[in-house]
Amino acid sequence: MGVSDYYDILGIPRNADDKEVKKAYRNLARKYHPDVCKEAGAEEKFKQINEAYSILSDSQKRAQYDTMGHETYTNASKGSYTGGGGFGGGFSTDFSGFGDIFDFFGGGYRRAGPQPGADLLTRLSIPLENAVTGTDRDIDVMHTEPCPSCAGSGSETKKQTTCPRCGGSGQMRQASQSVFGQFIRMTTCTQCGGRGRVPERICRECRGSGHTRTKRKVSIHIPTGIENGMRLRMEGYGEAGDFGAPNGDLFIEVNIQPHDRFRRNGDNLETTLEISPSQAVLGITVEIETIDKRHIELKVPAGVQFNTALKVHGEGIKRRGHPGDLLVRVKIVTPKQISGDEKDLYEKILEIEGKHSEKKGFFSGFMGKKKEKK
Ligand SMILES: [Zn+2]
Ligand SMILES: [Zn+2]
Repeated sequence: MGVSDYYDILGIPRNADDKEVKKAYRNLARKYHPDVCKEAGAEEKFKQINEAYSILSDSQKRAQYDTMGHETYTNASKGSYTGGGGFGGGFSTDFSGFGDIFDFFGGGYRRAGPQPGADLLTRLSIPLENAVTGTDRDIDVMHTEPCPSCAGSGSETKKQTTCPRCGGSGQMRQASQSVFGQFIRMTTCTQCGGRGRVPERICRECRGSGHTRTKRKVSIHIPTGIENGMRLRMEGYGEAGDFGAPNGDLFIEVNIQPHDRFRRNGDNLETTLEISPSQAVLGITVEIETIDKRHIELKVPAGVQFNTALKVHGEGIKRRGHPGDLLVRVKIVTPKQISGDEKDLYEKILEIEGKHSEKKGFFSGFMGKKKEKK
């Protein structure tokens, strides 16, 4: 079903003035409001009416719309109604009385009664070895706690009474005039902040807030194998809630510092071992240091190839039951300077290799040089 244009939707001529636009909108909006109209497609129609009105009631948008034409304009402004902002969006309000329309999308509206405390986020940086074994840490957190002299009530008497301004509902009604008639806007009570209750006699320590700001030491356990960027949650260690409501939670985001010798790959650790060409050829047993500073023997087999990973079982992340492994990557380092003796020996090796290659075609296969040689 092709929508003709906004003027058709509101059923008004193109030269309709502001008053006519308003009047048409008001009548149609009442007629097609989904709570009132049970006709099929009423909701869609209601959305279109709101969309048409939002354009035609704004002189700037209307001028643009007139110039561009319906199709161009709506294509150009796609998305501007989908945010649920203005009209169109959450219009699930109480229309039943017609005289009073509740406005819930004006912001500043919150659940009545005592509010739970806000969550806190803090960051903690740990070395990789702590992630490998897990660790316990004490951290200092600034947060609010219930005021000790009034026990969080905000009152010298430690008692609260019903808010005289809102009668305990935590909300206030504000009436204003609009296109529809009288609007009733529900706002948070300014005296009790929506709590519905106020201190009996204001506490001098906290000036009635019931909260005090303090630094607190929190002991946390960092589990084995924690990943970079993971958040730990400490229930109840966030900001204090209103009197009678729970505290918020504390979240600790853990950042793992890079290690200069070990890299992490899932539950495995990787490190590098540098050996000389002769060690690679002949094989060698070396002593290596684990991430927790223990010294273990590692056997490098004869003929090891560059970048081979030698596995040391159980020396990765120390997860109980199935720990990760340590992978030792072999880097064969060619010496840049050698002694005269070494040079003699390397020349000897080269000579022997040359003889081999003539017999077996070793270099021809390996380096692909054969075709140049005639
Ligand atoms: Zn109140
Ligand atoms: Zn107090």
